Amino acid sequence: MLYSTLAMERITMTTIRTTCSTCGDVELTIDDVGLELSPGADEGRYRFSCPFCGTVQRRPASRRVVSVLLATGVGYDVVATASPISEDEIAAFSRALDGHGWFKELVASDS
Ligand SMILES: [Zn+2]
Repeated sequence: MLYSTLAMERITMTTIRTTCSTCGDVELTIDDVGLELSPGADEGRYRFSCPFCGTVQRRPASRRVVSVLLATGVGYDVVATASPISEDEIAAFSRALDGHGWFKELVASDS
């Protein structure tokens, strides 16, 4: 009994660090975070509600981030269609276009 209680406390102590666009660096518990995955895709996005300002935000989650979040016990939803593109994603996309490797990556990812 005692051991299982301790184990649960250890799990709920897991914190996830991310950045709120208003508050800066924030620490979240797994209950604050949810993953949104598309069917058949390795990557997805995670959403969180900032503990300070309460805003719900979404960030792209790479395959690695997805597996780390799942391993820490974050819940997930499978979403059929992607939610509207955020300004962060547009910025990341235009940064990627400014680089020179994007065409190669596009061709490589098609295989
Ligand atoms: Zn915030």
